[in-house]
Amino acid sequence: MIAEPVSEFPVSQRQTADMAIVGAGASGAHSLLAVLKELSSATDARPRPTQIVVIDRDPDFFSGVAYGRRSGRGSLTLSTVERFLPSEEREDFVEWLNQHRDDVLSDPELDEAWIDRHREAIVSGQWAQLFIPRRLYGKYLAECVSAAIWLARFQNVAEFTSINAAVTRLTESDGRYLLDIEDSDGRACEIDAAVVVLAIGSPPVRELKADGGAVADGLVHDIYDPGLEQTLARVRARLDDLPRTDRKVLVVGGNAAALEFVLAAHTLIRNLGATITVLSPSGRPRHWHRTKPHEPTHLPALTALKASADAGQQVTAADLYEAVAADLAAALASGADVAAVPAIMDVIPSFLGLLGSQDREALAAEYGMLITNLLREDCGDAVDILDTLIAAGIISFEAGRYRTSRCRASCFEVTVIDRDGLRRKLDSRYGVVIGAVGFEAVSATGAPLLRQLLDDEIVHASSSDRGLRADSRFRAAPRLFVTGPLLAGNANANMLIWHAESVRRILEIARTAAPYIVHDLRIVSSGNSLSA
Ligand SMILES: Cc1cc2nc3c(=O)[nH]c(=O)nc-3n(C[C@H](O)[C@H](O)[C@H](O)COP(=O)(O)OP(=O)(O)OC[C@H]3O[C@@H](n4cnc5c(N)ncnc54)[C@H](O)[C@@H]3O)c2cc1C
Repeated sequence: MIAEPVSEFPVSQRQTADMAIVGAGASGAHSLLAVLKELSSATDARPRPTQIVVIDRDPDFFSGVAYGRRSGRGSLTLSTVERFLPSEEREDFVEWLNQHRDDVLSDPELDEAWIDRHREAIVSGQWAQLFIPRRLYGKYLAECVSAAIWLARFQNVAEFTSINAAVTRLTESDGRYLLDIEDSDGRACEIDAAVVVLAIGSPPVRELKADGGAVADGLVHDIYDPGLEQTLARVRARLDDLPRTDRKVLVVGGNAAALEFVLAAHTLIRNLGATITVLSPSGRPRHWHRTKPHEPTHLPALTALKASADAGQQVTAADLYEAVAADLAAALASGADVAAVPAIMDVIPSFLGLLGSQDREALAAEYGMLITNLLREDCGDAVDILDTLIAAGIISFEAGRYRTSRCRASCFEVTVIDRDGLRRKLDSRYGVVIGAVGFEAVSATGAPLLRQLLDDEIVHASSSDRGLRADSRFRAAPRLFVTGPLLAGNANANMLIWHAESVRRILEIARTAAPYIVHDLRIVSSGNSLSA
């Protein structure tokens, strides 16, 4: 099986479709899979196949930023295979991994060091406890989509076009949507679709503030733009140009992207005699540790909260947050926090049904993200490698919040706010500054499509300002569906989402939304064809 080829750019000025999916990452892929499944299981007679068009500005279809070539050869899942997917999907994925075992062992697109570290487990099919290269999931997903498209065509259920272009504008006209698209050669076209699924991932990353004329090559805002391998090449070239004493890299932020950069860059950093300093509010991030064997997992605060709820006491979103914080603090004090985090995650769903509607909203708007930020996890392989780099003096940590930087004599002078709230300059100057500080708030986004949709009041920011407001059928506007991370900050009868940046959540959302999408498709079905 191979991935579905991307279609030629349309030759006509306008093309018509029943449904357009904007974004071909994991959310677009799972939305398409779920919709195709729903369409093919429907019993009512359809006059003709449903015309579907998928549009992505990146040529890498159905793997997205995390699972395709924009991430690196050594970019690994944040959780083990066992926790990465729900059980049924995991079984299918593990079967695929076993079928492709020999390809995995010799794949030049994967990190050899990872293959060497885990050769025995790969050969014996022991995947459950491995953090695996994310590209493997991307390949698997693209193959699943390809197979589903083949079947839908064979059954005359759907016809399908994929277009490599950016959607720059989306407007409504006569009960249909017009999507302006433009490819990298500047060719433009309009797609006229009855139903649209917005699966464009998270908002763009927040850019680091810089004063004066920042040296473009030395300041990296997004390590995945255009791709992690290109970012590494850029960092290498920049460090190469600097005298040895200035070969210092500052990574701003303690999120998964920061650790991923450290892991991906460590060989080139070592070879160039450079060093990395990680700046995050707490110094070394809590989650950059690894589980010790037999860490105990007592959750006294959450257990007590559940007991009082069972006894009829009202539970609030704030109570839940405080219990999570208390159990995590106790686990940290006893050195058992890494095992406690998944245990806490596992019990949180049992509280959700106990919350009243106001507290569901408070969880979606505020407390949920506070909880998620407390419970972040990181790839175990990366953490192991980090320990050896710290011991070798290649990586160090600074506590503080980044304020700004100014480039002087080709190096960056960086100003931070320290733990006491005081502004200070870091002692060292840095040849390279890497941003890993998370995403823009939706209302402040500079992403052209989102900006236009918000400015034209076609969509509205959700309560947490991390996503778009959607109704209980996943619609941000009539026939305009949202799937994936942009659903963050929604609480209604059908959903309580404060964070949707995991494959598990993305899968669940796609499956729940698909019947509503197909329902709207049926209603507006008008007999148009994809040809001009
Ligand atoms: C680096 C990284 C690592 C992650 N690791 C894990 C993990 O290990 N485990 C886990 O469960 N989750 C992980 N996640 C979270 C989650 O699984 C991913 O965020 C997931 O891939 C999101 O998929 P998506 O399709 O919503 O977004 P994306 O992958 O961002 O895909 C959106 C697509 O939309 C396209 N697009 C955007 N705007 C436009 C436009 N205007 N016109 C045309 N195309 C457009 C983009 O090019 C992109 O291909 C990770 C996320 C990231 C970023």
